[in-house]
Amino acid sequence: MRIFNFSAGPAVLPESVLQRAADEMLDWHGSGMSVMEMSHRGKEFTSIIEKAEADFRTLLGIPSNYKVLFLQGGALAMNAFIPMNLLGSKTSADYINTGEWSKKSISEAQKYCQVHVAASAEDRDFTYVPPQSDWQLSKDPAYVHICTNETIGGVEYNWVPDAGSVPLVADMSSHILSREMDVSKYGVIYGGAQKNIGPAGLTFCIVRDDLLGRALPITPSVCNWKDQAEHDSMLNTPPTYGIYIAGLVFEWLLQQGGLAKIEQLNIAKAAILYDYLDETDFYISPVNRADRSRMNVPFHLIDKKLDEKFLQGAQQRGLLQLKGHRVVGGMRASIYNAMPIEGVRALVEYMKEFQRSNG
Ligand SMILES: *Cc1c(COP(=O)(O)O)cnc(C)c1O
Repeated sequence: MRIFNFSAGPAVLPESVLQRAADEMLDWHGSGMSVMEMSHRGKEFTSIIEKAEADFRTLLGIPSNYKVLFLQGGALAMNAFIPMNLLGSKTSADYINTGEWSKKSISEAQKYCQVHVAASAEDRDFTYVPPQSDWQLSKDPAYVHICTNETIGGVEYNWVPDAGSVPLVADMSSHILSREMDVSKYGVIYGGAQKNIGPAGLTFCIVRDDLLGRALPITPSVCNWKDQAEHDSMLNTPPTYGIYIAGLVFEWLLQQGGLAKIEQLNIAKAAILYDYLDETDFYISPVNRADRSRMNVPFHLIDKKLDEKFLQGAQQRGLLQLKGHRVVGGMRASIYNAMPIEGVRALVEYMKEFQRSNG
C-alpha cells in the first residue's frame, strides 16, 4: 500500500510514473534492455534525453537562447560551480539571504569570490522574503543569487526580482515546475531533481547562452557549463536513469495540462493547509503570509510536548515524513506536484482530529 509521503526530498513521485518505470524496467520499448544498461551514446538513450529536454523546454517555455544541462553533484555542488562559471574577470557576487539554503550558497561562494549579502531575512528568523526596496546591491557584481523557495523555512518568492543587466541566478530546487515562470528574467536557474522532478543524482541547469565562456581556468571540465553545453551534457556519462525518470515526470506534467494547470492545483492544495492553520490556534504557521511557500509548509504545535504523539498518530494513518527540519523544529509538510490533493485533505483531517482529542 502506498502512503502519503510528505518528505522534503527525495520526495514523492507520481504513482503512474513509478508504475511505468516498473513496466519498462527489464525491456525498454522492445530494446531488450533496461534504460540502466544502455549506452548513453546509443540511439535509444539519445531519444530519451532529447525528449526529456524538449518536454522540459515546453513545460517552462524555455527560450531558444538558453541551454538546458543535465548534470550531477546536486544543488550544493552548484554553489561552487556558479562562481566558477560566472565570475569571469569579476571578483564579487551579490547574494540574498532568505534561509538555510541561501546560507549554504553564500558560504560555498566565499571560497571563490567576495560575497556581498545585499539583503537578509535573518532579523526575523528567515520568515519572509526581503522586498527589493530593501536590497542594497553592490556596484559591479558578477551576478545576483537568490533561492526562490527555501525548502526548510518554507519561504517562497512569488515575484521576480529585477537585477537590471546583472544576471539573476536562482536555486529553484524545491519549486521548479510548480508554477509558471518567466525564464527570460533569469541568467541561470538550477537545482537538484529530487524535490519536484525525479530521483536524486540529477541536477538541472538552465543557462543563458551569453553567460557561457566566463569560467575560471581552474574549473573542472565536467563542471564547466560551456564544455557540457558543447557536448549536450555528455562530456562524461550523465545520470542516465535519473534523466529517464525525469522525462517520464515531464510527460506526466504535460498530460496534467502543463504548468498553468499544475499551478492552480498547487494553489488549491496549499490553501487547504494554510486556511486551516489560519483558523486554528492549536497549530502555528511561522511564515509571513505573502511569502508562504506552496511547496513546503512548516508548522508548529503550540505545545511542543505533543510533537512526538502527533507524528506517531500521523504515521499510523499513513501520513509520513512530517517531522520538521532540525533547524526549525516542529512539523513540515512538503506538498510537491506529485502529492495528490487527497493527501493534503487527509493531513488536515488528521490535524483537526488530533486537535479535538488533545486541544
Ligand atoms: C535540497 C536543496 C538543496 C540541496 O540539494 P542537493 O541536491 O542535496 O545538493 C539546495 N537548495 C535547495 C533550495 C534545496 O531544496
